[in-house]
Amino acid sequence: SIKLSNRVQAVKPSPTLAITARAAQMRAAGKDIIGLGAGEPDFDTPDHIKAAAVKAMDNGFTKYTAVDGTASLKKAIIDKYKKDNGLDYTPKQVLVSCGGKQSSFNLTQALLNSGDEVIIPAPFWVSYPDMVLLADGVPVIIETTQAQRFKISPEQLRAAITDKTRLIFINSPSNPSGITYSLEELKALGDVLKDYPNIIIATDDMYEHILWQQGTFVNILNAHPDLYDRTVVMNGVSKAYSMTGWRIGYAAGPADLIEAMCTIQSQSTSNPTSISQYAAEAALTGDQSFIDRMCVEFKQRHDYVVNELNSIAGVECIETDGTFYVFPNVEKLIAQLDGINDDLDFSEYLIEKAGVALVPGSAFGSPGHIRISIATSMDNLQKAMARIKAAI
Ligand code: PLP
Repeated sequence: SIKLSNRVQAVKPSPTLAITARAAQMRAAGKDIIGLGAGEPDFDTPDHIKAAAVKAMDNGFTKYTAVDGTASLKKAIIDKYKKDNGLDYTPKQVLVSCGGKQSSFNLTQALLNSGDEVIIPAPFWVSYPDMVLLADGVPVIIETTQAQRFKISPEQLRAAITDKTRLIFINSPSNPSGITYSLEELKALGDVLKDYPNIIIATDDMYEHILWQQGTFVNILNAHPDLYDRTVVMNGVSKAYSMTGWRIGYAAGPADLIEAMCTIQSQSTSNPTSISQYAAEAALTGDQSFIDRMCVEFKQRHDYVVNELNSIAGVECIETDGTFYVFPNVEKLIAQLDGINDDLDFSEYLIEKAGVALVPGSAFGSPGHIRISIATSMDNLQKAMARIKAAI
């Protein structure tokens, strides 16, 4: 067998993508599997966005663009930051990438030296720790509990900081917890970070628009404008416009850091797909009503699933603020089940015995929980809940 790099051996494939692949395989083998693992909305990309892509192709926009994105998309992104977030950026401060995933990847590659520590609150998006490892950094995980609504406290943050800390990821609304930080909570975290000028802050706002109450979104820069010179604000069109396959994410921040991230990108993917960039521009500048319609559906499903889960003895599920995930604590249930020792066993049991695929909390750094994606039809959710209840 081929001897692989230490780098690749230090990381693992994305567990969420692995679950989806496993469910697809079992289905192909004739098993009836309901997938509650999906990390993408189950709606089609809106027609006006697709039409923009067709028009881009018809007009010959099928060639390389500037590495950092087309001027017109960057303008749309700058306008979006101003309108939605009250933040001012110039084109040099904005980088368009192949999904939000590449924004984080560029950031860790451009910023970290060997041994640099990166603070990651758990439960976390599965890719942060592995991206840090790929950049020779050291993930420093801060654990949280359901009782603290899966949010870190200022005290926990201060205790995790060392003289090696270089970066912190904040993700609100959070995948997988579905929870948001309030302006006051972000202010308190910012008060700590203010004492450590060496730390760069990455706010991953990918789920900004998937919130039950519109207009309530805030990030750390809204709470602490004085952190502007060392904060990178990351977002994308994947979740808000159901455009996961188009692969467009974007980041804004200090010009020198953004330029370095662009250098990394110029030697890996070059520009994101030209056609997708035109589609993303249409998404950001066009009719936004799709988002509200999607959120109404997600909220109905959320209410149903949270209620069903809490009716199962040993399951505790808090209501979320947004996203299309719920993240129940199942420790008490696991303790009641013979031969099932942890969330990994429990998830395996559910896929085998109930035909329901979901992701164990361990994948997100929070054992004792499971992540259920509600990005599937109400019909599927009802079937899945009935099957889970029957299996246990
Ligand atoms: N950030 C968070 C918190 C996510 O959950 C995801 C996708 O699952 C991303 C970023 C990346 O999204 P994409 O690369 O599809 O734009």
